[in-house]
Formats: sequence, structure tokens, C-alpha cells
Amino acid sequence: MLQKIDAKYFDGKTSKKQSVSIEFFKNRSVKVEGDGVVFVESFDNLAISSRVANTPRMITFADESIAYSSSNDAIDSVVKELNNTRSIAYLLESKMRYALLFVVLLVLSVIFFLTTGSDLIAKSIAKITPQILREEISTQTLEMMDEYLLEPSLLSVEQKDRFQTLFSELTNQEAGFHLHFRRGIGPNAFALPSGDIVLMDELVELSDGEDKMIYGVLAHEVGHVKHKHSMQLIVKVSIVNIIIAYFTGDISSTVASVGTTMLHANYSREFESQADHYAKIQMIKAGIEPKYLAEFFVKIETNSSEDQSYHYFDSHPSNQERIDALLAPIERRL
Ligand SMILES: [Zn+2]
Repeated sequence: MLQKIDAKYFDGKTSKKQSVSIEFFKNRSVKVEGDGVVFVESFDNLAISSRVANTPRMITFADESIAYSSSNDAIDSVVKELNNTRSIAYLLESKMRYALLFVVLLVLSVIFFLTTGSDLIAKSIAKITPQILREEISTQTLEMMDEYLLEPSLLSVEQKDRFQTLFSELTNQEAGFHLHFRRGIGPNAFALPSGDIVLMDELVELSDGEDKMIYGVLAHEVGHVKHKHSMQLIVKVSIVNIIIAYFTGDISSTVASVGTTMLHANYSREFESQADHYAKIQMIKAGIEPKYLAEFFVKIETNSSEDQSYHYFDSHPSNQERIDALLAPIERRL
């Protein structure tokens, strides 16, 4: 208890005056007790008149009943003490409120980043990433993959020349596009964000040297580059990793993730469909029937083994769905 004062109490309904004691507690409760009167009120509901010399103070309660007391010094010390704690409590409360708001915003931001946000942001960042940066990322990624995963191609010079010619026709010798040959990770091909496209020997072997199939596969990969899919994927994985790194303080996963991202390029249904569509248009333009790419999908399906994960297989649209889309008559608006 902080203070106990004597007071005269008027209930506001009758003119009867009662002698009461008023106790002030640290927890801000105020107990009024007297002959036939006892109640507890919060200090915050009290209105206490200002001190004027030594005239009695008027304390008004929530129900508008009134008490008068001449214990000015005691009242002053109680008011001082409880007003101080009130301001501290108020400050703490408002700070807590801000802290809580911050935490809520942070959680919402993280959820947003990990879902819709990272897609949107990845798309925007991928769009504005300069070619020089895309080349840097691609060079480093390919170097890392060469060191740990890929082996030099065993294709003949003639075969390489033939595919290079196909590739030049396909890309119209547009700057930034380069075709690389490697082996070691099964019948696969992948596109780095710069326009560097890597074709595996195993894929050439699977196609039985059918150039039209290879053309379709390369066109599909060029489609990924044109739509900036791999860059979006890298940015997206980086965002997630940066968020993880922020909380764990470990940045190494961010660096390591780019390579594995490219390898297990787990493109969305939308991305694969876009790349397939791009390939289809390019094939038609080149006078090659899109069914050759569809046939490649059939081939890869019948030749897939469980321990090898193919880029073409990681996708969500089923192969049949993609084959149907390739074989469907081209829409008029195109
Ligand atoms: Zn693809």
C-alpha cells in the first residue's frame, strides 16, 4: 500500500456525509472503506482536484460520488507516484504495441516473400538484371558445375558444328546466346540466364542424332532464356536464402544454392508451358513439325530411370499434357 488517507464521502444521492478511509495501492487500485461503504476503484478512474494552499482536495469517483480530504501531502505523493508509473506503463505498452506490429509485419513480409512476393520480385529483378551480371552469374555457375559435375563432351567436331549451325539459325546469331557441349548428368539440357545453353551428349545419344528433336530441345531452352526463367529462379532462391541467412547468419547456403538451382531447375508449370510454346513457334517458323519435340518427350519418358532426374521431367505439367499442347493445331491469333 502506498498511502492511506481519511476523507469525507458523499455518495451523490443523499446529502449524508460518511467518514471513510481511502487506501491507494501500487497496482493502481483504490479502496474506499467506511461505515456502510466499501468499494474498490481504479486510480485511473479518479479525478483529483489540484492543490490550492491547504484547502481540502476533491476526489471524484467513476459513479460521480465524491470524497474530500485534507491530506494534501499524502495525495500529492500518491498522484506523483502513480502518474509516473502510469507514464512508464503507457510507454511500455505503446512500445510493446510497436514491437508487436513490427513482428506481425515481419512475419507477413516473410510469408509474402516466400509465396507471391518472391515470384513478383523475382520477375521484376530478372527483368532489370543487366546482361553483364547475368553473364557473370552464368560463367561462375558453369565453372562450378564443370568442376564438380560435368565432363567434357565426346561429340565429334562434325556433330558439334552441325548443332552450332542449328543453334545459330534458331537464335539468329543474337548476342549472348552460346551453345556448350558437356556430358555426365544424363539426357539433359539447361539454360543459364545469360543465354549460355548446355547440351548433354546423353541427350544427343537419346535423340539418335535426330536434328529436328535437338532443334526442338534447344528452342525450348532458348524459350527459358527469352522468358528469363532461370534468372527468376535464381533470384527467387536467393531471396529465400537471404531471408534464411538473415535469421541464421549463415550466408554459405545462398552461394551454394545457385548451382543446384540450375541443375534441378524445378520450373513451374507456367515456365515449362511458356518454353514449350516458344519452341513450338520457332519450330514451325523453321519448317520443323513440333511433333519432333513431342517425340523427344515420349523418348525421355520411356528411357527415364529413377536415379536420374531430368530437367524435362521435373516439371509439373505431365508429359502427356505437354505433348498434347505441342501437337495441338496452332491458334489463329499467333
Ligand atoms: Zn524446360
